[in-house]
Amino acid sequence: MIDSHCHLNHNSFYANPQKYIEEAMAKGVEAFLVIGYDLESSRRAYALAQRFENVYAAVGIHPTDIKKRGPADLGQIEAMLSDKKVIGYGEIGLDYYWDKSEEDQKEQKEYFIEQIKIANEHQKPIIVHTREAAYDTFKILSDNPPQYGGIMHCYSGSAEMVGDYVDLGLYISLGGPVTFLNAKTPKEVAKITPLNRLLVETDSPYLSPHPLRGKTNSPANLPLILEEIARLRGVEAKIIDEATTANFRRLFRLEKQ
Ligand SMILES: [Zn+2]
Repeated sequence: MIDSHCHLNHNSFYANPQKYIEEAMAKGVEAFLVIGYDLESSRRAYALAQRFENVYAAVGIHPTDIKKRGPADLGQIEAMLSDKKVIGYGEIGLDYYWDKSEEDQKEQKEYFIEQIKIANEHQKPIIVHTREAAYDTFKILSDNPPQYGGIMHCYSGSAEMVGDYVDLGLYISLGGPVTFLNAKTPKEVAKITPLNRLLVETDSPYLSPHPLRGKTNSPANLPLILEEIARLRGVEAKIIDEATTANFRRLFRLEKQ
């Protein structure tokens, strides 16, 4: 299985990433996509991808990190995209939970569009973060289609919208919330998402799955998420493991190793 979204670049892990990589590999996690959210974390993702064979990087600026960006940040992000271990662009998107003012939201939208454009120019799939911004997120993605597809990361939208995102070439990635006892919508999404568009992620150090909810999450917890999806769909975990691994490789055009 492949952790399609983790933050080994975060301070929780960065002092000793090897330990967390090895712990996860012992649980069957074969590869990791480390996601940037600002310039510094993107650089760390890049560095980890150079250091570990089974670590890949995505670089980009998260909507809530836009305000602290420097004028040269996007140029420096863009410079990393030519590396073959930098396979995705993100995480980018909209977050209206933290930014409520119309002015901030306008800036987020402009920046989201600009970063989709860069991803398209460099032929990279995008990693989309969206929170309390479902309508605008879908509108921007429809008007500015990601030409190389992408991922709705830790998908928290409705089951009804899954088909719309799939039609835009996007994959649906599920994380810890699908295991939460009171999570109705993610469980419904886990059942109806086409098997060939499903991915799994930890989003560690955030969003620990049940029964570890509230603790620091790590990539070693990925099987808990995968097993819950298998249970919900009434299939063996192996089926979800093979499908999500093949999906990841197809989306990012990686050769089978
Ligand atoms: Zn993330």
